[in-house]
Order: sequence, then structure tokens, then C-alpha cells
Amino acid sequence: MNSFAPSRPETLPIVQTDALIVGAGPAGLFQAFELGLLGIHAHVIDPLSAAGGQCRELYADKAIYDIPGLPSCTGQELIERLLTQVKPFAPVFHFGELVQSIERIPIKDTNTGLRVQTQTGLCFDAKAVILANGVGAFLPRALNAPEQADFLGKELFHGDLRTALAQYQGLHPTQSTRALRVWIVGGQEDAISNAIQGVQAHSNLEITVIHRRAHLDVGPELSQAFEALLGQSAPAHSPSPSTLSPKPADAPSTLVFKHGQIVHLFSQEEAPDHRLSALQWVDDQGQMHTSQVDLLMVNLGLSPQLGPIAQWGAQMHHKQIKVNTEDFSTDVPGLFAIGDVITYPGKKKLILSGFHEAALASFGVAKWVLQKDRIPFEYTSASSLLQERLGVK
Ligand SMILES: Cc1cc2nc3c(=O)[nH]c(=O)nc-3n(C[C@H](O)[C@H](O)[C@H](O)COP(=O)(O)OP(=O)(O)OC[C@H]3O[C@@H](n4cnc5c(N)ncnc54)[C@H](O)[C@@H]3O)c2cc1C
Repeated sequence: MNSFAPSRPETLPIVQTDALIVGAGPAGLFQAFELGLLGIHAHVIDPLSAAGGQCRELYADKAIYDIPGLPSCTGQELIERLLTQVKPFAPVFHFGELVQSIERIPIKDTNTGLRVQTQTGLCFDAKAVILANGVGAFLPRALNAPEQADFLGKELFHGDLRTALAQYQGLHPTQSTRALRVWIVGGQEDAISNAIQGVQAHSNLEITVIHRRAHLDVGPELSQAFEALLGQSAPAHSPSPSTLSPKPADAPSTLVFKHGQIVHLFSQEEAPDHRLSALQWVDDQGQMHTSQVDLLMVNLGLSPQLGPIAQWGAQMHHKQIKVNTEDFSTDVPGLFAIGDVITYPGKKKLILSGFHEAALASFGVAKWVLQKDRIPFEYTSASSLLQERLGVK
């Protein structure tokens, strides 16, 4: 489930477009550029909050050395350059949207097109769809407790604590002045930043960070800030349960660290609306504990999930889409695919392969969308038409 997607009314208009790109990773961004050169405007969908795919999510600060003409640049820098390059063609980005279904529909001019629907109910009718969804959508890693679905979005959240607190308080207006018991699962940057931000920016929170390892997976700066706050609060590894005694609303927040793993979540009989009220966790000695909780943050990082692409009609091989390497079309009319999501003999999951595939796919898409047998091939260095489209002439 995409926990950060709000539900939408059913009455939203259907977006009509010539081309729709699924995925704003490097391949999807360059696809929008190549289509722009051929005069085709594109919409781009991605469940993340910004463009970049793996480059931004997995190695934003690391250097890449095999981009032609760029001896070295970071993942983030490459994405910024791709966004600058595509700017003249003004693709419309739809972030926070996960493509859920793709089905064939009749469309004027091309006889057949594709209807694409996102998880929140956004709907597009496109003459052509280009899948550039890479290794899948980066969704929050779930807790290993089957009951979590019952509490998701009510007392259990992913992402940042500030947003979660606002959502929690909207759903459960405060009835008592006792401290809010917040548990944060994880030892990586997002978990530790949430804990630090929680103590520094909010009052009256009892924050417990639980991590399966004794050491944190963060840099020295965050680690020191966290240790310093632990020193000011209750002692680390404190076995004492959270206090239930009332506290003034502006009492400083506290921080505790526990080394262990959550195994079960409970809604206690007396808890209103069967809301989450306790969790069971096992410590590093194998001892089981039960603790009270109001709000649970699951900050275990993101993991890519391919989702229902097998139901989108294209032929697959080992969870990857088979393509015709002449134009990167699939066996579904109007459906093209490029980048890490595809397979063909000799395919290499490299950024430059995605760029090459986008260039060839753009000619296939243009033929299909414009219903032409041939699309003129021109150089950007020589063509006044391309330079006009680029806004440099
Ligand atoms: C650690 C690491 C280092 C790497 N270093 C290099 C390197 O040095 N050089 C190199 O060439 N390659 C490198 N790669 C590989 C490179 O990152 C990939 O080949 C490249 O990112 C593929 O681009 P893509 O656009 O096809 O897919 P991705 O980058 O995976 O982007 C796909 C996008 O699609 C979105 N998406 C997924 N599912 C959906 C859906 N259902 N609806 C809407 N959007 C969706 C995702 O959120 C994502 O943003 C590295 C990879 C890793 C993991």
C-alpha cells in the first residue's frame, strides 16, 4: 500500500495526453526530452515526491563515472541536469502518484489508446504510454507484524514525524495532558532525524526509538546529536515502562533507545475505535516485553516494489518486460518500455542504456501518436526546427 497517497473524489476529469511516461527516473526524464524534440508533449507520473528514481533514492551523494561526456557527477547532480535539459518541453509531473492499472481503450486518431489509473484515482487517456518504472516504486519498508494494516494511517505512519503528528492529532483530538507515547522503529537517518526533531521541536512526547542493532546506521553528526539528547532524557536501554502520570502540556519531550524488534501490535479492548494501544517487542536477550504506545513511526527505509505490472498486458520474462529493440515497443499497441524494467538479449542496467532506449522509443512513439510511417531524423546541432523547439534559436 502507498501510505502517503490521499484518497480522491471520483469526479476528477480524465487527463487527455499524447504521451504518458510512468516513472521519473533518469530514463523517464530523458524520454520526456527525446519526445519533446519530436514535438510530443508528455505527462510523467511517479509515486515519489521528486524526480530521480534510483539516482536520488539510492546514491544521491555518490559519484557516477560512466555518463558520456560527464567524467564525474553525483546521482543528484545528474537528475538536476536532466531536469534542466527537459525544461524547454515542460512535461507535467504528477508526483505522489503510483500507476495501478493500464488498459486498452478506443481513442480518436490512433484507434486505440491506453487508460492509466493511479492509486489515488487520477485517470489519464494516452495515445502512447512509456513504462520507465525501473526496479519498481520505492515504497516504505513494512514492519514484520501482520496486524499493521489495521493501524496504517491512523496510529501507524511512515515518513516524517511532524506530518504524522498532525494526522494523528486530526484523527484523535487530545483528551488528556499525559505525554504522547511515540515509538520510532529504525536506526537509519529518517528514524534518527525524526527522534531528534521530535524532542527538539515538540513538547510532551515520550519518544522511544527501537532498532534491531545496538549501533545506529547514521553518520557521526546525527549519531552525536542523538546521543546528546539520550543523555538528557531517560537512560538508554531503560527497562521502565512509559509513565502514565499527567504532565503539563509544555513538559519537555523525552527520548529512550531500545535494542530490539517489534513482533506484534495490539488494540486493547478498552481502547476507543480499536486503535493501536500496545506493542510487543523482543529485546537482544530474547526477552519479550509489552509497552504502551499511542503513535508508531515505521522508518525502516524504502524498498522497490514492482507492483501489478504483470497485469498491464505486456509480455514478461523474469519480471521484466520484453521489447522490440527497434523502437522499444511491447506487444501491446501503444505501450512502450525503456530502462531497468525491460529485458532483451544483452541488456545492461545502466543509465546510458536507458538514454539510448529513450531515443529509439521516441521515434516509435511519434510514429504511433502522429500515425505516420516515417519520422524525419534530424540533428540538434543542425536542425532549425529542433532548435526552435529547444528555444535556443
Ligand atoms: C547503488 C547503485 C549505484 C548505481 N550506479 C550506477 C552507475 O554508476 N552508472 C550507471 O549507469 N548506473 C548505475 N546504477 C543503475 C542505475 O541507477 C539504473 O540503471 C537507473 O536508475 C535506471 O533508470 P530507470 O529510470 O530505468 O529506473 P529507476 O531509476 O528505478 O526509476 C524508476 C522510477 O519509476 C517510478 N515507478 C516505479 N513504479 C511506478 C509505478 N507503478 N507508477 C509510477 N512510477 C513508478 C519509481 O518511483 C522511480 O522513480 C546504479 C544503481 C544502484 C542501485
